[in-house]
Amino acid sequence: MIPAAFDYTAPSTVDEAVQALAAAGEDAKVLAGGQSLLPVLRLRLAAPSTIVDLGKIAELRGVREDGDALVIGSMTTHYDVQRDHLVAEHAALLARATDTVADPQVRHRGTFGGAIAHADPAGDLLAPALALDAEMVIAGTSGRHTVPAADFFQDMFTTTLAPDEILVEVRVPKHTGWRAHYEKFNRVAQAWSMVAVAATVRTEGSRIAEARIALTNMGATPVRATAVEQALVGQEATRETIRAAAAHAAEGTNPTADGNADVEYRQELARVLTGRAVSAAVTG
Ligand SMILES: Cc1cc2nc3c(=O)[nH]c(=O)nc-3n(C[C@H](O)[C@H](O)[C@H](O)COP(=O)(O)OP(=O)(O)OC[C@H]3O[C@@H](n4cnc5c(N)ncnc54)[C@H](O)[C@@H]3O)c2cc1C
Repeated sequence: MIPAAFDYTAPSTVDEAVQALAAAGEDAKVLAGGQSLLPVLRLRLAAPSTIVDLGKIAELRGVREDGDALVIGSMTTHYDVQRDHLVAEHAALLARATDTVADPQVRHRGTFGGAIAHADPAGDLLAPALALDAEMVIAGTSGRHTVPAADFFQDMFTTTLAPDEILVEVRVPKHTGWRAHYEKFNRVAQAWSMVAVAATVRTEGSRIAEARIALTNMGATPVRATAVEQALVGQEATRETIRAAAAHAAEGTNPTADGNADVEYRQELARVLTGRAVSAAVTG
């Protein structure tokens, strides 16, 4: 189908983009890679009056270091995140999760910030962002502010972003030397997650010193598996201790039933996949 008519603007700075959004009112939409927005427009599930295309804003692309943080521009494509040596070194969990996103075509067009802003419960980058305590840097007409991932994801497809705000970059505390794994369960290769687990651990000898675990598609927003994290810390990284900790994975979750899985099945997936993810992370 063909989208409804809209005005189109492609500013070259963040300030211009914010001004364009503010001028257009609540009915405007930001365009990043278009991988989620364009199907919605073509199906006429949305008919914005104005599209503000971020594609010409150079400031929004790329990965850089800023002290203890890695800063990922919102328009950095999945493909560039996958290949980036800073991400591999300081946020391996993001690289692992990005490897599982869709297919090469989508990864070349789709953006890190677009996936985060879209806030699809089955999206694979939300749980890693939550596990790594990432912070969202947001620009609006009154300036820039930062929102922790734990507060940013409000509901299904809903974040704290106001209609006249854009996600500029994501700041990720460096997890240098941490091992990571993203365990995704889907029906067919390259499909969305039915359930997935983001796990990153820091070991001291054979013990788990720190652990960060978060779950994809176990609720309307990504969920931090804090009971699992607490059960892992200080333990010898054995099959038994990991299995015992993973038994807590469904605690505090609120999965829905759909054509792929009922609630109990998703809860069992969370436990099994958490065990696999932590084991794989520990063994590197
Ligand atoms: C066939 C297919 C398979 C896919 N499989 C997966 C998968 O397995 N796992 C997965 O995680 N994802 C998957 N995706 C989604 C993919 O990751 C998209 O890239 C992502 O959802 C949206 O990114 P985008 O850059 O294309 O954003 P767009 O489609 O351009 O935008 C998406 C939404 O976010 C808003 N937005 C985008 N950027 C910003 C910003 N900087 N500030 C404020 N708002 C913004 C837009 O207004 C829009 O509402 C798939 C997509 C397709 C088409």
